[in-house]
Formats: sequence, C-alpha cells, structure tokens
Amino acid sequence: MSLIVQKFGGSSVRDKERLYRAAQRAVDTYQKGNQVVVVVSAQGNTTDSLIKKAQEIGDTPPGREMDVLLSTGEQISMALMAMAISGLGCPAISLTGWQAGIKTCETHQNARIRHIDTTRIREELAKGNIVVVAGFQGIDEQENITTLGRGGSDSTAVALAEALLADRCQIFTDVEGIYTADPQVVEEAVKLTSISYDEMLKLASMGAKVLHDRSVAMARRGNVVLEVLSSITESEGTVVQENSNSAAPHLQGVTADRTVVRYCIKGLNRESGGLYTFIEELAQAGIRPDLLGQNEEGEIFFTAAHSKREEINRILKKRRLHIKEEDIWAKITAVGQQLTAFPKLKKEFFEVLHEAEIPWEDSWMEEDRFSVLVLRERANDAVHALHQVVLRHHLK
Ligand code: ASP
Ligand code: MG
Repeated sequence: MSLIVQKFGGSSVRDKERLYRAAQRAVDTYQKGNQVVVVVSAQGNTTDSLIKKAQEIGDTPPGREMDVLLSTGEQISMALMAMAISGLGCPAISLTGWQAGIKTCETHQNARIRHIDTTRIREELAKGNIVVVAGFQGIDEQENITTLGRGGSDSTAVALAEALLADRCQIFTDVEGIYTADPQVVEEAVKLTSISYDEMLKLASMGAKVLHDRSVAMARRGNVVLEVLSSITESEGTVVQENSNSAAPHLQGVTADRTVVRYCIKGLNRESGGLYTFIEELAQAGIRPDLLGQNEEGEIFFTAAHSKREEINRILKKRRLHIKEEDIWAKITAVGQQLTAFPKLKKEFFEVLHEAEIPWEDSWMEEDRFSVLVLRERANDAVHALHQVVLRHHLK
C-alpha cells in the first residue's frame, strides 16, 4: 500500500463541478488500494476577496486577525471536499491545519512550517479515511493561527508528504505539468516528463508560478518526489526529482518575472567596501539583488523583487544614497545545466533578441541560467525569442 498526498489548488476546487472532479481523483487513488491525504486551497479568488474585505475595515489590519480571516478560505474547501468524497461513497474527514498538527513559526502571513505532529492524520488513515487537510495554515507555539504566504498550500502538501514519508506528492493544477515555457504565451512549448529539483527551483524563483518556490526547496531537502499534473485531463504530468536528467549540458525552460524593479545608485564605492556592506545589509533583510553591475559613470545597478521595494528604500535612505528606481522591466530567464559548455550560447540568445528587435538592458550568464532585462511590454516577445534557443539545446 502506498501513501499519496494530493494537493488541489484554488482553480481545481473553484466550483461544484471542479470539486467533484478532484474528489473523484482522490477516490480513484484510494480505491486502487492507496492511503490518500488531500490538501486543498481556498476556492477560486476567495483569498483575494478576504484580503479586500479586511482592507475595507482598515488599512493596517493586525497580522494575527488577518490570519484568522485568511484561514477560513481553506476551511470552506476542506469541508466541501470531504462532503464530495463522502458523496462518492468513500469515508473522509477534514482537518484544519492545527487539527492536523501543523506547527509553524509566529510570522503572520509568511509563517514557515517547523514541525508536523502526524498522530491524528495517521489515526484517521488507519481508520480507512481519506484525510482532507486545509492548506496554507498552521498554528504557532502560542496556538495562534498562522498562514504560510500566498501560494502556500503547495508547501503544506510537500511538508505533509515529508512528515508522513509519503511515496509521492501530487500537485494538481490547471496546466498539465511543467513546460519549456508558459504554454499560454508560447504555443510551441513542450511538456517536460521530468525536471530536477534545482532546475525547478530556479524556474520558480525566476518567475514561474506553477509551484511555490519554498515548496520546491522543501521537496529537495526532504527528497519528496513531486508530480505536477492536470486536475482536468488524465494526461501524464511532470515529475520533479533528484537527477532526473542526464548530466549532459542542456536548456530546460524559459520564464519571465514581470515584477522586478531596477535600481541605479550613485555614490556607492566598490573599492572602499561600501558596496559589499550594502549587499550584506540587503541580504540580512532577505533581499537578493540580481543582475548586479556597474556602468562607466560608476553607478551601481541591480534588480530586486517588487515586494521588497519599501525595505530597499528604507536601507538606501538610511545610507543617504541617491537612487533612481525603474519599474518598467521584466527579467527573462532561461534555465538549464552546464550552460558554459555551449561556447556560443550567449551569442545565440542575443541574436534571437536582435532578430525580434527587442532591446535589452542588463544580462547575466552562469552555469544554470541566462537572464536578460527587457521592457515589460516586450516580455512575451522575449520569452518567444529565447524559447527558440531553449528548444535547440533541449534534452528530449
Ligand atoms: N489560498 C492561498 C492563496 O491564494 C494559498 C494557496 O492558494 O496556496 O494564496
Ligand atoms: Mg498555487
């Protein structure tokens, strides 16, 4: 008998029809003789509507109460899912994050799972139940409800799979797996049968939205075999696992991050160590500057996530640095392995951009990726262009 964790995201449980389809997947897996733990997200745009409701009450809702509110979305889904599974004739029970023993740190809206006490889940599985767990939530040491950050249900599923020593963690979504590019942008995108943890992590951290990047890091650490597949069709998905590809140099996919901000700073002296301490201060605030460089005028420039804007401005102000902030760029990244083994790869990337008449600003090349900054309105064109090169050097 295998133990399988199945996670259904917001779009996979958004209405009665989708919910029953998901429930049927769980029931089919159960009837094949497996133990099944189902993790659910809030239905459709529920979390967004809850955030809006809170904003109607006040500009700065207390973090603790925000989590009490946000956790209700998943609580609706878990009850409806357990009802649907029962309706299909299978025994099921729903558990909130805290009933499921999910203990987190106390950072509201961005908590990390510290430990899972699996006693209750195991008891329920032993009774023959399909156990439905609310994603995205847990409790801290003081028993306050916490949530794990947007998209955090993936992390719930992976953490449960790790704690329960599950044989597989299946993430059901509205695409059929991981592609060489977003299939909604690039028609010729190819579905991957497998991808390594490292490559998936790189894609997720460079903008691919299929999986929460923290969940991929967690899966790698716990050696959890992850499978991304469609909740709508029956086709095979993509498996994320260790060394799933041969060691040969190859490109695996291209993604876009449309939310980067580019900063140009005057007065930071590279030689005097000013740059070094500045980067260290950013790192301490959890900010990783990317595409870092210096122009002839001595200006330092870098990009960072839009969500870190306030924090970066605070640090720059404290240092009395003159900055220019540009919120017009998108970072396009091609991900792969041993890229420097291709002698002309960089040239190939620039050639396709040139052919498509896409001007670019900064660029970066290392073993596992090539990134380039283009105007946000040209992001899709640039994804198309780089994708041609990806297909040329893609391992089939
Ligand atoms: N419902 C939460 C969100 O919308 C968590 C998730 O979907 O994974 O971010
Ligand atoms: Mg998601």
